[in-house]
Amino acid sequence: MKLIKSVKVYSPEYIGLKDILIAGGKICRIADKLNIPDDWEVEIIDGEGLLATPGFIDSHVHILGGGGEGGFANRTPEATLSGLTRHGITTVVGCLGTDGYGRDLTALIAKIKGLREQGITAYGYTGSYQIPVRTLTGSITQDIMVVDELIGTGEIAISDHRSSQPTYDEFLRVCADTRLGGILSGKAGIINIHLGDSPRKMDMILRAIRETEIPSTQFLPTHVNRNAGLFEEAVEYAKLGGTVDFTGNEDIDYWETVCDEVRVSTGIKRMLDEGISSDLFTISSDGQGSLPLFSPEGQFLGIGMGQSSCLLKEVRECVQRENIPLEIAIKAITSNPARVLCLSAKGQLKEGFDADICLMTDDLNIHTVIARGQVMVKKGEPVVKGLFE
Ligand code: ZN
Repeated sequence: MKLIKSVKVYSPEYIGLKDILIAGGKICRIADKLNIPDDWEVEIIDGEGLLATPGFIDSHVHILGGGGEGGFANRTPEATLSGLTRHGITTVVGCLGTDGYGRDLTALIAKIKGLREQGITAYGYTGSYQIPVRTLTGSITQDIMVVDELIGTGEIAISDHRSSQPTYDEFLRVCADTRLGGILSGKAGIINIHLGDSPRKMDMILRAIRETEIPSTQFLPTHVNRNAGLFEEAVEYAKLGGTVDFTGNEDIDYWETVCDEVRVSTGIKRMLDEGISSDLFTISSDGQGSLPLFSPEGQFLGIGMGQSSCLLKEVRECVQRENIPLEIAIKAITSNPARVLCLSAKGQLKEGFDADICLMTDDLNIHTVIARGQVMVKKGEPVVKGLFE
């Protein structure tokens, strides 16, 4: 059992200065002041001067590494436990990337199991960048139905020169199979869609929503801020009730100089100013994913890598640069992804929810991270690490 004393609680709504009692990996009580009987063995965590938020949920991470654009030497490395927890991430959803050949579903699920054994919550998407997708059982529906770790399909690439150039019918079949898998298993059955740079933008998603019975809640289009034109379409999509996923960027000051990527905080401010609900955006990191840069002629120019640290960095920018209240900004990496991914015990600080908690300083730096009741990070430093970290 653990008792966090006198901490400012953002549930994500700000509910004041509280004590939080944790037992068995769950949040048992949140109250103004909790008195613990003398004979209870409880670890006290001093929350004085700190604020508490739900642990962060990153819905798009290449936990096996990704890419390899430009050649084999450019294959990006796997995620590590402390590489996630030191940035407040307590739930991660893994996916294959551009290279669904050199990495496969078996390896992805093994990695998910490993992260779970290490103490955080991990899930994954079946399928791959290209259609026909890679699966474990031979069927998207069956994968989502019977494999506990798999909660959707992704990342399916559209509007990108690296995609398999899927036809509308091919794309639709993937969406329908994913939805059915979700329905039969009581999971999200979300389709995580990689949007590329092409002027076709979100055409296929919009057409699927217009012409079929599949609702917009089934889709989580990502990288919506990769260029200004795509972002404009994403704003219109959100106005119709769709949720959009921003990709964070640890080094936006550089990327702004080489492409017209939209800064996450600017984009979220714009959506809020347009009257779009604060429930309709999420931020993911594309962590460990390759971030290749190509010339307008399709020539490979260079490569970077997605950083898990960008989730909190983007929320900090929302608060400090755009004056968005923390209780709104933090939803993008807590309650919103939890709802979209149907993770019912995640994303909120509430009694009965999983004890995934970040304690931060007032300037929004990580102090303590608790995952399923276990302290993973203390004073900003990981105290639980994988064997080879
Ligand atoms: Zn992608």
